[in-house]
Order: sequence, then structure tokens, then C-alpha cells
Amino acid sequence: SEERSLNFIEEIIEEDIRNGKNDGRVQTRFPPEPNGYLHIGHAKSICLNFGLARKYNGKTNLRFDDTNPEKEDTEYVESIKEDVRWLGFEWDQELYASDYFDQIYSFAVKLIEKGLAYVDDSTPDEIALQKGTPTEAGVANEYRSRSISENLLLFSEMKEGKYKDGERVLRAKIDLASPNMHLRDPIMYRIRHVNHHRTGDAWCIYPMYDFAHGQSDSIEKITHSICTLEFIPHRPLYDWFIDELEIFPTKQYEFARLNMTYTVMSKRRLLQLVNEGFVNGWDDPRMPTISGMRRRGYTRDSILEFCDRIGVAKRENVIDVSLLEFCVREDLNKSAWRRMAVLDPLKLVITNYPEGQEEIFEGENNPEVEGGDGSREIPFSRELWIERDDFMEIPSKKYFRLGPGLMVRLKSAYIIKCDDFVKDEQGNVTEVHCSYIPESKSGHDTSAIKVKGTIHWVSVPHASKAEVRLYDRLFNDEDPMSNGKDFLEIINQASLQVMPAVYMEPDMAHAEMGRGYQFIRKGYYTLDKDSVEGNLVFNRTVTLKDTWAK
Ligand code: ATP
Ligand code: MG
Ligand code: MG
Repeated sequence: SEERSLNFIEEIIEEDIRNGKNDGRVQTRFPPEPNGYLHIGHAKSICLNFGLARKYNGKTNLRFDDTNPEKEDTEYVESIKEDVRWLGFEWDQELYASDYFDQIYSFAVKLIEKGLAYVDDSTPDEIALQKGTPTEAGVANEYRSRSISENLLLFSEMKEGKYKDGERVLRAKIDLASPNMHLRDPIMYRIRHVNHHRTGDAWCIYPMYDFAHGQSDSIEKITHSICTLEFIPHRPLYDWFIDELEIFPTKQYEFARLNMTYTVMSKRRLLQLVNEGFVNGWDDPRMPTISGMRRRGYTRDSILEFCDRIGVAKRENVIDVSLLEFCVREDLNKSAWRRMAVLDPLKLVITNYPEGQEEIFEGENNPEVEGGDGSREIPFSRELWIERDDFMEIPSKKYFRLGPGLMVRLKSAYIIKCDDFVKDEQGNVTEVHCSYIPESKSGHDTSAIKVKGTIHWVSVPHASKAEVRLYDRLFNDEDPMSNGKDFLEIINQASLQVMPAVYMEPDMAHAEMGRGYQFIRKGYYTLDKDSVEGNLVFNRTVTLKDTWAK
């Protein structure tokens, strides 16, 4: 993409390189917790971390931050790897915080030995109460003054499984009066007798995020640990642990997380949508997950372009989802093959075209590409499908499509004139009768007739039939999490509309997975994984224009 100015993290890195910090080395990491599928917000973080390493000749680790065994699973690990690769990034090392459990345990022992950590027997409620409030200092309890030897013994007993969940915790001994609540003797370890997806039952104590993340960064000698703004108040603690442990001094930098209109992005909430059946899985095309977007027909390049355009901000903001849609439209315009498909079919008969006769027209795959990106054959015959709304019994003034006496061009074919129509007993139009102008053949038009409208069509005997799924926004409210509303109550009940019998050009029977198609006048579509031989399913990626513009 075009030249842009440096973002604030690039400025920091360039300054570090100038100063010879870390010998000019740039090492980043992308640290997902394997407790859900990745979403578009993660894509932002992936682009940033991998993009910086790419730009500054550095490396990026993929590190699974798997210190919460209850919620984590290998299914998530696999999906995360697939999504990162699909975005076009390759990690240097695949690592797991759980691989560092021994080392993190010995870090804790070191702090106990320095008199900087203690085992606390209080209940979680007592600990919360004793911590005080932002305006009121916390108070020390009797456990804070335990001897080093007693702490060492109790901590090893915690590890050996002598105590039940919640009976004891290990806390850092820092400052109960600190204005920063994170420094008021934060919990480092808690007891959880649960199976871990990688370490099994080897451990029954697990480090807290704050005593695992920075330690993992340091073990990997990460130079720039990039996280989102809510970790700013954690930074003094991050630095305190590293200083007291005297380990590699990784630095943490914070940027604004991606928030987007009409979307929820927390994995907890996305899981709720899946579990409660509001969507059909993590890769439902309405989900803001990478896998859902891929299934819907979003291209990698459109996601990368979106991440580039929104930039790296230092303040919270909300991005309009229409920017994402704009990016995919732009990209698909350049790559999608043009095809005709009739979503809401009405039969049209060309009365002066001989029965049994057919012609083959040729159409470029994509006029935006030099040379058309190849072409396909489009069969034409006496009976065609057209869109129901391309005909009006009593046309309004500026209606340039079909109606009694009106003329249009059939895309890539002939100009036709509407002579008549047929209705059933309920008054529904069932057939439109037209005559064609033989001299008006597209590309060889000698008719001198000017028409204002062009419509798409599909030859009835040649048509390929498929199911099409139209998606709309999943929420009715721009900010689904606003004013304490229950986000499940503002779900758009009409976010999925199924068109069971759509007629397409015959070559769509051989549609390729992963390719974008522009159904002329109807938007961009892609083949869905639910397709089976004889029953293809297409997802609408996005409409041709922003129909949501207010
Ligand atoms: P969520 O709150 O959605 O569950 P998380 O932050 O708990 O997300 P992690 O798996 O911990 O999810 O995230 C991995 C990385 O992706 C972290 O470095 C995190 O900061 C980053 N990340 C997560 N959500 C966003 C977002 N909306 N915008 C930018 N980066 C994000
Ligand atoms: Mg999380
Ligand atoms: Mg997290």
C-alpha cells in the first residue's frame, strides 16, 4: 500500500534501533488465550505484531497464553493457527505459557526467598476487602508477616495438592497503600484442581495472568510486548516482577483495541452466541471471527487493508463496520468473477425467438482486469429467468426496466421489448412476454435503439440452481453493549435470509471454494462449505453499495 507516516510504536522501535537497544533486535509475539476463535480485533493485533517484525527484520512468536485451564481447548489452538496462517503470517516459534510452568514456579520461589511473596489463607472476599479502595489504603493481615521458610513450605504444599481450590493463594508483597490497586499485593498463584489441555493433571496451581504474561515475554526475550490499553495500569506490576526477578527486561506498550459498530468482540460474548444458538458456530458468516469472515467471502487482502487503514491509535475509538465492508468491496471488485444470478425469479418468454434455438454469448470474467481475466460462455434461449422486481405491471415514471411497452437490454445479449404478461388467479404475475430486436446483439448492435436500463438474466433450460444465504447485521443497535442493555435482546432476528431456489449461469455449478463472484447488480458472493454436489450454497459477502448509509 501507499506510503504512510510511522505509527507511535514504529517510532519507538526506530528510536530503540538508533540507540542500539537490544542490539537492534526486534522480537514480538502474538499471545492469544486458546479460549475461543480469533476475531477481527485479533487480526489487528496480528497485523501489528507480525507487521512490525516483518518491517524491522525481526521475529514473531505465536504464544498460547494457556494459564486458565477451565476455558481452554486444543480445538481453539488449531483454529488460531489456521487463522494466523490464512492472514499470511508465519510465526518463528510456536510456544505455550504452560511450557514455562516449571520456570514460573521457580520465579515465585525466588520472590518468596527475597521476602517478596507470601502465602495467604484468606478467602477471596477477605482479600478483596483488605485491599481497600482507590481512595483508602488496604490493610495487612496476619499472613503477610509469615516467615520465608513457612511460605516456602506452604507454597510447595500448594503445588503438591495438599489444599483445596481457593484455600490459599500466593501473593506478591508490594505495597498495600499504593494508589495503583494492581500493586496492592496482587495474587500470583491460585489453586485449581482441573485438567489442563496440555499439562493434564501435572499442576493444581496456576499462575495469574500478571505472573505469567510478562514472565513468558521475558523468557522469550521479547523486545516489544504490545497489548491493549486496559493493561496500562498493569505496567508498573509488569516492570516490578521483571526488576525483582532480575530477568530479561521486556517493555510493554499499549495501543487502542479495535472496537467496531454493530459488533461484539469479546470471546466470552461470542461463545455465548454460539452456545445459545443465535448463530451456527464460531465460523457462522455473521460472526466477526476470522473464520466466519473467511467463510462469508472476506478476502485476506481486504482484512489487511482494513487493519492498515484504521491505523494504530493511543485512544479508544469505534470504527464504523462500513469501512470493513468498503475494503472488501474494493478488493472483490478487482478479483471477483462476474456472473448472472436471479435471486427472485420470474419467467420471461421471448415470443419471436424460435423454440429449441439457442445461442452462446461470451462474457469477460472481470472487466476491471486487463484482458478481462478470461471469459465464460453464457447460453441464451427463448425462456429466461429475470428478477421479479425488474418488471412492473404499471411502471412508475423513472422505472427503466420492464413493463408493458418498455424496452431494456439483456446484459451481454439483445434489446427486448415487453409486449404482454400473464397473471395467475391470485393476481401474481407469472410470465412476461417480450420480443427481441435481432440487430441489437451486444457488441454488434446496428439497431440504433437507445435504452436506459440493462438487466441480468439466466436461460431457463441451462440454469444451475443453488441456495443463497443473505446476511445482515447481527445486531439492531450500533453499540450492542451500550446502556446496560442485554446484547442478546437486540439481536437482529432477520440477520439471515435464505433464498432456496436461485438460478445461475450454468458454469456456477463448477464454482470454486474461496473465489469471489460478483452476481451482477446483486453483490459479492462465495461458495459455502455446506455445499454438496447438486445442492450448492452461496453466501453473500457484501452488497454492491452501502445500503446502510443513513
Ligand atoms: P477478548 O476480550 O475478545 O476475549 P482477549 O484480549 O482476552 O480478547 P487474547 O486471546 O488474550 O484475547 O488476545 C490475544 C491478543 O490479541 C492480545 O494481545 C490482545 O491484546 C489482542 N486483542 C484482543 N482483542 C483485541 C481487539 N479488539 N483489538 C486489538 N487487539 C486485540
Ligand atoms: Mg480473554
Ligand atoms: Mg487476554
